[in-house]
Amino acid sequence: MTQELWGQLRSNLLQMVGKHNFQSWIEPLKFSAISDGVATFDVPTMFIGNYVSQNYGDTILGELSRAGAPVRRVQFQVPANQPERPVAAPSPARTAVRPSHNDDELPGAPLDQRFTFDTFVVGKPNELAHAAARRVAEGGPVTFNPLFLYGGVGLGKTHLMHAIAHELRTRQPHLNVVYLSAEQFMYRFVQALRERKMIDFKQLFRSVDVLMVDDVQFIAGKDSTQEEFFHTFNALVDQHKQIVISADRAPGEIKDLEDRIKSRLQCGLVVDLHPTDYELRLGILQTKAELYRAQYPGLKIADGILEFLALRISTNVRVLEGALTRLFAFASLVGREISMELTQDCLADVLRASERKITVEEIQRRVADHYNIRLSDMIGPKRLRSYARPRQVAMYLSKQLTSRSLPEIGRRFGGRDHTTVMHGVRRIEELKSSDGQIAEDIELLRRSLEG
Ligand code: ADP
Ligand code: MG
Repeated sequence: MTQELWGQLRSNLLQMVGKHNFQSWIEPLKFSAISDGVATFDVPTMFIGNYVSQNYGDTILGELSRAGAPVRRVQFQVPANQPERPVAAPSPARTAVRPSHNDDELPGAPLDQRFTFDTFVVGKPNELAHAAARRVAEGGPVTFNPLFLYGGVGLGKTHLMHAIAHELRTRQPHLNVVYLSAEQFMYRFVQALRERKMIDFKQLFRSVDVLMVDDVQFIAGKDSTQEEFFHTFNALVDQHKQIVISADRAPGEIKDLEDRIKSRLQCGLVVDLHPTDYELRLGILQTKAELYRAQYPGLKIADGILEFLALRISTNVRVLEGALTRLFAFASLVGREISMELTQDCLADVLRASERKITVEEIQRRVADHYNIRLSDMIGPKRLRSYARPRQVAMYLSKQLTSRSLPEIGRRFGGRDHTTVMHGVRRIEELKSSDGQIAEDIELLRRSLEG
């Protein structure tokens, strides 16, 4: 790739992320080189590098691949000859000295334009968190404080917080809504200490109407930051200002967090985002695929691909999205339909990495339990329907949920031939559409095995 190409891509990125984000995060990037499938960019500080990597890494990668650059990964580095200033904040933050309603002077981080309620897919695992976030976004009287959202990586915490901020800024533009990560809170705090601007810092944060702090587990073990956070938190709660916090685990489970902070965090509404289930993953994929169809008109996607991805990539939504981005970029590059073959080709590494460790043995045990038969009867030679059917169900699930080949599965079913397994799998596939009970059994078993 050449510098000119990067120049062109930058204008696409400007469209995608908006002017404000572009100036803060994309403009500072200097394209350095592509080698071995890795595109390297120079950044002025690691802070910007980390932020861009987390928030725009996939977007940049997608654009590069779309333009035909041979990249699998992007990385950001501070050039060796440039000493990093450890607490340098991104440009919009440097002006953060006065409380003001001008966007550029707020102490918050930029919001991702894509993270709105419109683009958030609601399912069982996140419906409570979503409802609570909606409530906060209405901007009415504070009913629970703080709202504490927690859950594993990539389950939508940041998305929901940005969505709240977007919504509030539209509905209640007079409110001073500030979103930032706990890490950024610490940077600001340390910077203020160093520059002897603690009074400004305190005033700035205490003048906020809605404060959202993401990934609060980050301040665990950082004593003076915790202390300051605690005071900011209390001051805002006392003024009935809404606070929204996220973390990767429940307040009580964050190690090295002071007890008084834990108990304050538990005072409001604590909601967790559960790991995604199949339906939610499929919903998310369908939504994203819809967007991509507009972006890549003419690109076809075969039936069953999204279902396949939803089934096979159960780690987190970020990985799921990354996979879809890569798939569309790749297919448009080679000008082919997104077929099962292309999918397995293009995503071989992702599929391997996210392979669930469900074993055939585990499947056999669950299925035997479910149908109330003995494991020995499932694996043994009896051909009675009451054993044969569960056996076929277990074979079917083994084929679907593990990477074992038919002969390998056969071996684990008392040394049966691979054709027997194939027959069993086909039989269940047929029955699934004609026999509601079987379809339901399979759904139930699959869910319990995945969960
Ligand atoms: P977290 O902060 O919990 O680690 P993020 O909010 O950053 O996770 O989500 C990771 C990615 O997955 C984002 O691109 C986000 O838009 C997407 N995502 C997560 N959950 C959903 C959802 N329910 N609907 C749509 N997109 C989602
Ligand atoms: Mg997050």
